Formats: sequence, structure tokens, C-alpha cells
Amino acid sequence: MEDLQERWTSALEDHLPDAVELRHRVHADPRVSGEEEDTARLVEEALGIPMARLADVGRIGRIGPQEGPAVLVRGELDALPLAEETGAAFAASNGAMHACGHDVHLAALVAVVRAARGLDLPLGLVPFLQPREETYPSGARDAVESGELERLGVAAAVGAHVHPAVPPGQVATGGGVVNAAADELHITITGQGGHGAYPHRASDPVAALAHTLLALQEVVRRHVSPMRPATLSVGHVQAGAASANVLPSRAVVLATLRTTDATDRQVVLREVQRAVAAQAEVFGTTAEVRVVPGEPVLDNDVQLVEHMDAWLVRAGIEPTEPMRSLGADDFSYLGEQVPAVMSFVGVRVEGHDEPPQLHTPAFLPTDEAVRDVARAMVAGYLGAVQRLGA
Ligand SMILES: [Zn+2]
Repeated sequence: MEDLQERWTSALEDHLPDAVELRHRVHADPRVSGEEEDTARLVEEALGIPMARLADVGRIGRIGPQEGPAVLVRGELDALPLAEETGAAFAASNGAMHACGHDVHLAALVAVVRAARGLDLPLGLVPFLQPREETYPSGARDAVESGELERLGVAAAVGAHVHPAVPPGQVATGGGVVNAAADELHITITGQGGHGAYPHRASDPVAALAHTLLALQEVVRRHVSPMRPATLSVGHVQAGAASANVLPSRAVVLATLRTTDATDRQVVLREVQRAVAAQAEVFGTTAEVRVVPGEPVLDNDVQLVEHMDAWLVRAGIEPTEPMRSLGADDFSYLGEQVPAVMSFVGVRVEGHDEPPQLHTPAFLPTDEAVRDVARAMVAGYLGAVQRLGA
């Protein structure tokens, strides 16, 4: 296997110039979630292997041994609805932007697959071009539900994501929870509006809303140990028209719930219903809580991480502190099915000592990121091979 890593790494160098050029083409012509067909076709052509469609415009294939277990390596297809402000020669101008580095991931995946041709892979390698990472319904979930992963023998999954908070040249892995489960709460409070001068004759959704906001914060504090990360953030409230003296009949709250433990998730969702109903009742209103379930917890397989770290070290890359956050990534749907690792790859951004954040209009990793992500993917594949005992 050491020999395989060496030959793979040196073959990568031959394919990087084309991969970087592909990165620029993908970056210059981004497609937002649900509209990634053109990007998928471009990358499929560059991969040059037979691929099947799944999850609408997604693509999946298999190289190496065609029988037995295989390791999936993911590249996301979608860009964000954001006007680019990087000033790069290959900047996008269609109002969308690869501000999450998916252009880099796709190019790296192409380099990894092309460099693997002619190598004797011990297990199948399944490149997965995934649509709709940034929106619901999740492309990863659709892929899992399609049954295509089982058909291809996927027994482990590897993801590598650029991250501005990781020092360049380093890769953050880390066993256990690295991202949260994310659910949306859509709360509607209904009452009987009225005149602001006669609040005693109305049932006032604005008052109920104000107390509901406070009660929501207490739900996590009352029911989740502070030793297990969880948070609930309200991102939107709406009630009434722009009028000072009309009490409206309806108020709306949108919130995101992030949890890192399956039981906490269920308990908080149940207790939110109770807290909201109780506040509504106090004010003579009624309330409805609609839960829009999102990604499950992203849990890195501990053994797989240990193996991958060792391969990173052999490749001269320093595995660094895990990048744990209450962010969410739908790669977690794959992690629910098979042992999986999501790694975060450090990048530089030209002209910035501190790189801009993901999802901002100035986020543009240098082209070195293609090599670094490709090497992380190779280390992940080799780690997964060991994890599967092959
Ligand atoms: Zn992303």
C-alpha cells in the first residue's frame, strides 16, 4: 500500500495541470443547487469513465476491482446564489459563485480518478458527483435512497472539504461528531387581532411571540446537558403590518435547531412543541410547530480516521485539530449507512492573511488547494481500505 500511495501521488502531479484548468472552467460557469446538469456533464467528461445518473443530475461510477466492497469519494456539484467579488480572471459573472470550494473538490476528484488509472487498486473506488449539497431536499439523501450505492458495493465514504480555518498544508479529521444535526422549526401563532388600545379584548400573537422567543432558548438549557453541544437560533420573526396600533392575528417564527446527539434531538423537538403550546395558551392564542427535518449528525468513524491520519503523515501532511462545529453537511446521510470520514483541508486565499469565510463573495482558495484536497482524498481511500480489512 505504501508503494501504491507513492505511485498515486506522483501520478497526481501529471494530472494536476488539467485538473486546475477544469477547476477554472467549473468556477467560471457555476450552477446553483438543482440546476447542476451542465457542471455534472463537464466533470463526467473529464473523468472519462462510465457513469450512472442518480439524484436527478448526480453521477456515480466505479473504477478498480468491479466486485466486492468499494470506497465512495464525494465531490459536490452546486454553487451558491452569490455575486462573486474575487476579481479572479476566471471569476463567475452569472450571479452564482463557487464560494464553498466545490469547484476545487470536483477538480481534485477528477485528478484522483485519472491518476488511479493503471494502478492496482485493492478495492473499488466510487466517484460520486453530488447535486444539492447546499439546499433541501438533500442530494446525498436522495443518493442513499436510490439504492445505487448498494448496487455499487459502497462500504465506506470519504469527503474532503476546503476550510479557511484550517492552516494551509494541514488537514483536520477527528473521530466522532464533527457536524451537527440540523432541523428547521416553522412556528405559526394564531390569535384574534384587534385595536392596540384594547389589548384586553384581543388575543395578541405579538405578546405570545415575544414570550415564545424566550421560552425557546430555555428548552435547550432545560433539557440538554451543557456537556453535549446543542443550540437553537431564531433567524426570522414576522407579525403584523407596519402599523403601531393594530394587533395582528398571526405571528411567524423560523428557527434552526442544531444537536449532536440523537436522543437530545428527539427530546428538544418534543419539548419545543410543549413550550410553544404553553406560551400560546397563556396568551389565548394557538400555535402550530412544523418541523422540517434536516441532516443527521455527521459522525466520523474513529478507526477510519486513525488509518487516514497515518496515510496523511506518510504523504507529508500534518493532521491537525478536528474542525468540530454545529454546522451541518449532508455527507452525514452517507455516514449513517457506512463508516465515513469528512476531512477539512487548509487553504490559502491570495491577498488575505486571514482567508475569508466559506459562503462569502471573496472566498477563493489558491489552485494549490486542488493538490491538497486530492491528497486528502487518496489518504481517505487508503484509510478506508484498511478500515474494511482489505
Ligand atoms: Zn460545501
